[in-house]
Amino acid sequence: MYQALYRKYRPQSFDDIVGQKHITTTLVHQIQSGNISHAYLFTGSRGTGKTSTAKIFAKAINCQNPQNGSPCGECEVCRALSDPNNMDIVEIDAASNNRVDEVRDIREKVKFMPVSAKYKVYIIDEVHMLTESAFNALLKTLEEPPKHIVFILATTEVQKLPATIISRCMRFDFHLLDDSVLKTHLKRIFEQEKISCDEDSYSLIVKSAQGSVRDMLSIAEGIVSYTGGNITKDQVMDVLGTTDHDTNLEIVGSLYQKDVGRAISLLDGAKKSGKNMNIVAKDISQCVRDLIVAKTCQDAKDILGFTNDVFDKYISLAKDIDINALMKYMKIFSSVITELKFALSPTVLIETAMIDCILDDEKKN
Ligand SMILES: [Zn+2]
Repeated sequence: MYQALYRKYRPQSFDDIVGQKHITTTLVHQIQSGNISHAYLFTGSRGTGKTSTAKIFAKAINCQNPQNGSPCGECEVCRALSDPNNMDIVEIDAASNNRVDEVRDIREKVKFMPVSAKYKVYIIDEVHMLTESAFNALLKTLEEPPKHIVFILATTEVQKLPATIISRCMRFDFHLLDDSVLKTHLKRIFEQEKISCDEDSYSLIVKSAQGSVRDMLSIAEGIVSYTGGNITKDQVMDVLGTTDHDTNLEIVGSLYQKDVGRAISLLDGAKKSGKNMNIVAKDISQCVRDLIVAKTCQDAKDILGFTNDVFDKYISLAKDIDINALMKYMKIFSSVITELKFALSPTVLIETAMIDCILDDEKKN
């Protein structure tokens, strides 16, 4: 039976956590020195390793024989904690409302000693979704934590947490991963799985993951099952069904340089590779919107959530393009997306829009 890549390559030790050395190094030091805090806050985008790190940490602080700070996986405690029904690592998903009751009566429950481990660990995922009363219960416990209790709060939206909670926790910020780090990780996995993949395909898969390991592996998963393990660029494009950042930026850049011929030929390339023209139009429109954000917003990098490599490309084009031109493209492509629903020839409609972008500019000058 084929096992999902994400599950199969779920990290088992701190060394397996990809690209968050600034966090794992500190956690390993704490384990080795026995200097454990009672509350941790793991923040960052989805798919960056927060929950995996929490689970490894929960085992490592209890392991009888940790290996370089990571759980040994073999001792009595590690084996007990590997059982999903164990009572000492309690995972609560605040987003699904699952076991939120558990948080409410957490003050009662924390009095009980762990069953087989030294610490009882509560991992609360998407903690920003807790209700006010649940937060209050949590806060009271964080104020006077029993010695045998450790909380790991994980969230993608730290700004929604009460300051009183944040100030009680040791905070770690998980970063989106750079393309090069993701690519190295994917290459290692594909080599182990004996899956062949060319350089262009690696780049496309990595780019569409936008810095998230989990997204990358689930995209890779889809492509592997589509191709049967012999991956080519065309197939990747088929599966992704969208144009990539580079193409979009080149199209918008060509429009700004009034090189409509280049823009149309890029569009033709997308069409020949089997792209859906509605998606292409949406992608161009999205690209223009992202350029506006990159040009005008102080915290553009956070808003866009791109990796450094992709963000730099956006900034470098946004710098050159006049904001009025971007606003014009935005309007033109927004109406194109509406018209496309009724269009008999989507390609002609998009080409006309491209010409509009250029003509309008000339009228203005
Ligand atoms: Zn162990």
